[in-house]
Amino acid sequence: MNPISPLQTDSQNLPALLQLARDEAARFLSDVAARPANASWDGPAPARLPVHGLGAEQALQNFTQIYGDAISGSAGPRYFGFVTGGSTPAALMGDWLTSAYDQNASDRTSMAAAHIEASATSLLRETFGLPDDFAGRFVSGATMSNFVGLAIGRQWWGAQHGQNIAADGLGGLPTPIVLSGSPHSCVYKSLSMLGMGRASLRPVPTLPDREAVNTAALKRALQELAGQPCIVVANAGVVNTVDFDDLEAIAQLKREFNFYLHVDAAFGGFAACSPKYRHLVAGWEAADSIAIDAHKWLNVPYDSAVQFTRHPNWQAEVFQNAGAAYLGEPNAADALHLTPENSRRLRALPVWFTLMAYGAEGYREMVEASCACAKLLEERIAGSSAFRLLAPARMNVVPFTLGEAGASAEQVAQFLQRLRDGGQTFLSPTVYKGVAGMRAAFSNWRTQPADVEIAWRGMLDAARGM
Ligand SMILES: *Cc1c(COP(=O)(O)O)cnc(C)c1O
Repeated sequence: MNPISPLQTDSQNLPALLQLARDEAARFLSDVAARPANASWDGPAPARLPVHGLGAEQALQNFTQIYGDAISGSAGPRYFGFVTGGSTPAALMGDWLTSAYDQNASDRTSMAAAHIEASATSLLRETFGLPDDFAGRFVSGATMSNFVGLAIGRQWWGAQHGQNIAADGLGGLPTPIVLSGSPHSCVYKSLSMLGMGRASLRPVPTLPDREAVNTAALKRALQELAGQPCIVVANAGVVNTVDFDDLEAIAQLKREFNFYLHVDAAFGGFAACSPKYRHLVAGWEAADSIAIDAHKWLNVPYDSAVQFTRHPNWQAEVFQNAGAAYLGEPNAADALHLTPENSRRLRALPVWFTLMAYGAEGYREMVEASCACAKLLEERIAGSSAFRLLAPARMNVVPFTLGEAGASAEQVAQFLQRLRDGGQTFLSPTVYKGVAGMRAAFSNWRTQPADVEIAWRGMLDAARGM
């Protein structure tokens, strides 16, 4: 007689096993604030594949023994590196259920999945005050969202030259031209992936002491193209200083010149949630496509972003997954014809949960609270000789450097390592206008002013004697 397999046993104990996972999650989250924000850790050798499985309960025990204390508190209130969100309670519930329901959101497993996705993108449109004619799709992050936006732009650009690039490639066409002031690194990566080449990006000068594009310089660059079509990537929230291009002025240029407008609003798009900051995105409705991250300021778990466009037709030309007999007739509304992935997770569910749970008012408060924390840190830095601000805290990011005279990249790295070892907080390095420095970015709903004070004490300790 065969012994009962671990899988059979587990399938009989599923509710108890889910309870164990729930207990571990609750244990982790109950003290996430006390964990090092980003601990260094040398783990043991990788596990070996067991011949006879351990069963889920034993696997969990082994897992927590190895990793339980090593997982960093990056989802907690004092991780200020890059632009990092956390997960709201409702978003986490939605994410758990996403796994339990295990729908393939390419839209073919259930009509409900497709409906949830449409409903979630509609909630997001309302959150951002975008017109109804922006179609929204979920992708894994703002990199992918920018990639899709630029892919649509590439298809448009090809059409201007009478060529369907999705069908026939870039052969015979001139080098595409992409204009942008302070593009995120992933825009270059996307241009590489799209076969347009990183060199197709022509940086346009920014305003003095700013990361926002100089609109007059952009206009000159467009004039020099003498009617050749191009793509403009506008930036709504640059990572260093959360500077915003003047989107209204760019929308005005769009009436005069022939370009496709993509807006990278990965986290800056959340300015739309607050009447204090909404003016910063005024004009973005003129965009042909917009990229916004959900795993940053929306505070849903990794990985999630939304891609908005007014041109699902060009999008479908690029991404259509036609010709596989087993998939049946292509339905242009299916996500598999509109984004890089075919099979995909129902990323809409955590978004639906968190927006329904906290609403417009909840997100206004969350955005304003993050910005208030940035203001508090800015005040502390301005009043101290240990650090120097590199730019004002425009929204939720504070860029600064060491000492009154500034510091070398090595000194910054040494300071950041000390800070990381101290465990109170984690910041990531940057270079702003040629000066080595660092930035503190606030986008986790858990962060309170008291966390800023704890982080600030850690920063003073780490800077001592430097
Ligand atoms: C974070 C960010 C990206 C890239 O987003 P991922 O989610 O890491 O793929 C692109 N643009 C801006 C402005 C960002 O802040």
